[in-house]
Parts: sequence; C-alpha cells; structure tokens
Amino acid sequence: MSKFIRHDHCPSCGSHDNLAVYDDHEYCFSEGCGRYVNYERSPTITSESPKPKKSLYSLPTTTQPSIRHRNLDASTVQKYKVTVFDDPDSEVEVIFPRFDNEGQHSANQIRMRGKEFRFQGDSASSTLFGQNYFPLS
Ligand SMILES: [Zn+2]
Repeated sequence: MSKFIRHDHCPSCGSHDNLAVYDDHEYCFSEGCGRYVNYERSPTITSESPKPKKSLYSLPTTTQPSIRHRNLDASTVQKYKVTVFDDPDSEVEVIFPRFDNEGQHSANQIRMRGKEFRFQGDSASSTLFGQNYFPLS
C-alpha cells in the first residue's frame, strides 16, 4: 500500500499542488499531465545473518578431576568449568572454556595431549577470562 505524503509542485506541468507524493511514487492529477514516477525503493536492509555458531565442546556437566601436573585443584577446575579428559586415548587433554562479555560460552582453548594448544570458537568475542590462570606454557 502506498502511503500519501503530501501534495507538491509538479515539475512536469508546473502545477502548484496537483502532484500527489506517496511514499513510493508520485502522480500528477493535472489534466493532460499524468506525471507518474515510481520511486526506487531502497532495498530493505536485512540484518546480516548471524554467523553460524561454530560447534564448541560444551561445558562439562560432570564433576571434573583436578589437573595435578598443572597444579589446578578440583575446585579451580570447577570454577573455570574446565573439562579434563582422563582417557589417555583422547586427543584432547584439557579444555579451558572462554566466555564473551555477556558470559556466554563462546570459545574453547584446547590443550591437546601432545601439549599443543588449539583454539575453538570465536576468539574475537572471547574475553581473556582465565587466561592468566592458565598460562600457555
Ligand atoms: Zn503535472
């Protein structure tokens, strides 16, 4: 539906106020003029589709053991929601979750069993939460 905005001066026939301006077109009612202009509608700006969430290892749901060799006791592990993989066959050894400014779990810092670190998720939005607590070396 066109929405009437105002009557205006018609540049085609010089009428003072026979031009009816709508939000998407204008039309002149002057006899013999018939000016009609369809306004180019600016395309609706659709907000960028959110980036698909990369799948993250989820936060631990069970009580995690301490990480003795890193001097992290169980309460610290709980506090930072660290996931500890006890299975020696698991590639992943420990997961340190990262959180964004809203406290959402947004990324994981993953320690592989070969002492290699990997990062999973959105590093940009992740705070350095806990980083000092878990030095990389
Ligand atoms: Zn006109």
